[in-house]
Amino acid sequence: TTARARQLRVEDLTVRFGGITALSTVSFTVEAGTIHALIGPNGAGKSTCINVLGGAYRATSGTVHYGDAEVTAMPSHRIADLGVARTFQNISLSLEATVRDNLLVGRHRVMRTGTAAHALRLPRARREERAEREAVRRIAALLRIEHVLDRAVHTLSYGDRKRVEMGRALAAEPTLLLLDEPVAGMTHGESAVMAEAIRAVQRELGLSVLLVEHDMPFVMGLAERITVLDFGKRIAEGSPRDVQRDPEVLRAYLGT
Ligand code: ADP
Ligand code: MG
Repeated sequence: TTARARQLRVEDLTVRFGGITALSTVSFTVEAGTIHALIGPNGAGKSTCINVLGGAYRATSGTVHYGDAEVTAMPSHRIADLGVARTFQNISLSLEATVRDNLLVGRHRVMRTGTAAHALRLPRARREERAEREAVRRIAALLRIEHVLDRAVHTLSYGDRKRVEMGRALAAEPTLLLLDEPVAGMTHGESAVMAEAIRAVQRELGLSVLLVEHDMPFVMGLAERITVLDFGKRIAEGSPRDVQRDPEVLRAYLGT
């Protein structure tokens, strides 16, 4: 029943907020099963782009397709049903609840048996509970948070919390994962663990990842393809190698 990753196609995307043009005719394609990064200085329009792709913001013009489906004007729950999951720039977990319970919340979209059956502890509900525990354990293993499954989220380090948040998004079994600044505020060691976790989920779950990042070295070692935004416009796209050497990109980052 595992769904396959599809191509994400963004065409001529423009987003205006009153007088501000946050994105101006931006186009790029995330190929199925790849890790693609959207980078650029602060205010470049990266979060706006993720917000449109997830259905939180409306496009002023342009289109977004996920596979054959046009998702441009869809509400976020319908985009989620198509297999697109996201994390936020700021953590949005239940801090008092355990890691396991936070991941189980993410499973609700894929669970079939109703809560009444669970309350009555019917055999089918118990079988499903075992399957759920296994699904959670598998995600936790990929993200290296298996050892903290029974701890309350507020007792974890920042780096571990960020991987729990990614785990909650993965619990819904997405085929495209949108990550907004996954390593913002992390130590070098924590970013390295996050990079490994992102590689592991791409490899083992076969999904596509679109990540938005400010941190250039992190992205260079992880993404297969990079789209660079500056002041809402696409200024470059290519392999990490090409983008790194692009004079427009250097100018945008160095502010000269
Ligand atoms: P980035 O994530 O690359 O730092 P953003 O997408 O957050 O950039 O912001 C791009 C521009 O759009 C900025 O000028 C920002 O102030 C503006 N912007 C973003 N979201 C909103 C909003 N909800 N309302 C008004 N302006 C916004
Ligand atoms: Mg942002």
